[in-house]
Amino acid sequence: MAEIIIDSYRCSSCGTCVEMCPDVFQLDSMTEKAELVTVAPTVTDAVYQAAAFCPEKCIEIK
Ligand code: SF4
Repeated sequence: MAEIIIDSYRCSSCGTCVEMCPDVFQLDSMTEKAELVTVAPTVTDAVYQAAAFCPEKCIEIK
């Protein structure tokens, strides 16, 4: 099963991933960095698209 890894150090809190995939990504209320909504979300095409559109390229799917 594919795994989503977010490099929160590089995340610029732009919110693109949250906009594209609100079931999977959210911004942490304290740090405003992207994080996963659930521990092991299903990796849909929308998740791959959000990773592709991330301006910092800090969403890795493996
Ligand atoms: S799209 Fe990338 S930089 Fe923007 S909030 Fe999501 S993980 Fe962070």
